[in-house]
Amino acid sequence: MNSFEKPQCYCCEKIATTKDHIPPKCFFPKKKDLSDGNHDYTNNLITVPACSDHNNSRSKDDEYTAAVIAMASTSSLALTLFKSKWVRALLRREGLLGKRIFLTAKSARVISRKNRVLIPYNTTAISCEMQRIERVIESIARALYYLESGYTKKCTGSCIIKSPKFLNRDLSYSQDAYILDPINQAFIHLEKYQELGLARKGKNPDVFYYQFFKTTDKNFVIRMVFYNDFTFLVYLQEKESMSSSIIFTV
Ligand SMILES: [Zn+2]
Repeated sequence: MNSFEKPQCYCCEKIATTKDHIPPKCFFPKKKDLSDGNHDYTNNLITVPACSDHNNSRSKDDEYTAAVIAMASTSSLALTLFKSKWVRALLRREGLLGKRIFLTAKSARVISRKNRVLIPYNTTAISCEMQRIERVIESIARALYYLESGYTKKCTGSCIIKSPKFLNRDLSYSQDAYILDPINQAFIHLEKYQELGLARKGKNPDVFYYQFFKTTDKNFVIRMVFYNDFTFLVYLQEKESMSSSIIFTV
């Protein structure tokens, strides 16, 4: 294979010399992070071509985002991962990551809407650094778009990120939550129509899977689900990149 056949980095126009994990590897538990230690979630991870500058280039943001999502997810896998890997990480290096996450913590009383029953409970509210989380999710979305195009197209249009998981600062549900919930449910119900591209993709769906949907106006919606619980809906607007064409030969 000569250099003309090699794909570009998913972030820039350099020829890729390495591969980056999508989502980053820190989202996936290692054997030592799990009490039974049998299942290996680090096999068959999704990768995209990357240059050396962009490989693992957002590791601090990745670590912050992975810790917050594991902490806020309700699945037993996320809980186990948080108690093992992330509690260790929060305590090491003078607890910088822990300080960053828990500096804003305050006790809160919220109402859960699970199973159509309203249950008030006491918990801890944390103000998230949304820009860091959005940088990571946007990077994953653009990488998945590149992957889905067979490394022939990059999405250069705008990217909108929504999640029904985040509350407003006054702990009320955001306006988005009421819109996102039905969209989320629609994805779940339409999943059986695999020809719509709504099949779950990702070899470790207990940690991460995504669904890729092309809308009639040629934009894209990617539904990402972490730990079977924490969902992001990402709207990508397609715009042809003038300089990202790749030549493939047979
Ligand atoms: Zn690059």
